[in-house]
Amino acid sequence: MNSETFNPPQRILMGPGPSDVHPRVLSALARPTVGHLDPAFSAMMEEVKGMLRQLFRTDNALTFPISGPGMTGMESCFVNLVEPGDKVIVCRNGVFGDRMQDIAKRCGGEVTVLDDAWGTPVDPQKLEDALKAQPGTKVVAFVHAETSTGVQSDAAALCKLASDHGALSIVDTVTSLGGIPVEVDGWGADAVYSGTQKCLSCPPGLSPVTFSPRAAEAVKARTTPAVSWFLDLGLVMGYWEGGGGKRAYHHTAPVNALYGLHESLKMILDEGLENSWARHAAMHATLKQGLEELGLSFLVDEAHRLPQLNAVNVPDGVDEAAVRSHALNAYGLEIGAGLGALAGKVWRIGLMGQSANERNIALCLRALKDGL
Ligand code: PLP
Repeated sequence: MNSETFNPPQRILMGPGPSDVHPRVLSALARPTVGHLDPAFSAMMEEVKGMLRQLFRTDNALTFPISGPGMTGMESCFVNLVEPGDKVIVCRNGVFGDRMQDIAKRCGGEVTVLDDAWGTPVDPQKLEDALKAQPGTKVVAFVHAETSTGVQSDAAALCKLASDHGALSIVDTVTSLGGIPVEVDGWGADAVYSGTQKCLSCPPGLSPVTFSPRAAEAVKARTTPAVSWFLDLGLVMGYWEGGGGKRAYHHTAPVNALYGLHESLKMILDEGLENSWARHAAMHATLKQGLEELGLSFLVDEAHRLPQLNAVNVPDGVDEAAVRSHALNAYGLEIGAGLGALAGKVWRIGLMGQSANERNIALCLRALKDGL
């Protein structure tokens, strides 16, 4: 059988991720592959770890990209911190909080789920009440930026409640990292994971993670082996730690994907992390004004809205899929559909990383206007 070389269409990515990838990152991906234990590669990995610490705003030694998408970061936090019988509280206000509780149960945790309505943030009072009612809780988990709804929760308050009650916090920053402030040390967060395809503007497939010394101690204190060999921190750190040729083989790192991450982190730090946050906020304000001029409204109250993920209510009587298809076919522009309970009810317009620019916004507003 003969197959053609695959040439993907040029798209403008304004969905919930992946976001537009800059040509600098694409060309980094195409650099010559070296061995994953090559000293030159190890030196680059050390730089990646250092730049991730700057993005996460942490001094955590245990900071590195897991070879796998955001879900591997989520699984890594739970499989390493939750042992059978451990008490876990999961705050659920969207699709990704729901996945967290599922994984915590698969790890054998005794899981309490705290629900908040989709489109609203996690309620710290409910968490405080639950922590008081469940003494000895080992882990509290929540999503900082819920991509399914476009809501931001108060990570500082939630992490503080967890640590005040002697629990470790697991925080999902897949959509927040690089787009809005993530302050791992400032929050006192313990196990934090992210993804590359959102505000880092890298192709999908890597999951930056960082673990506090307290979390690392909890991993060492386990009495049972982690249920995943690949994600067992004790094993994977032999590979990611050390540097200087002392690294032991664990798996073959996705060498070229890491070149891409290195370049995208460098681009964010060249721009300045605070400048990147400010750009996301400014682009959100521009999009908001244009959407309101079209008579469109947001799902989420302004106070809790994510600048980088805009959940926009589909007006009554509008075929939401037809509007998205029009944007794709007429403009090569991808916007996202609603997920889970919000399927058919909202569009999700991403302003993530390189996609957060004036030109994309103008095109998106034009596509929505004539689509409607
Ligand atoms: N957590 C959140 C908040 C997400 O938005 C996503 C992906 O959209 C994930 C986790 C999972 O990431 P991935 O699809 O890269 O596995």
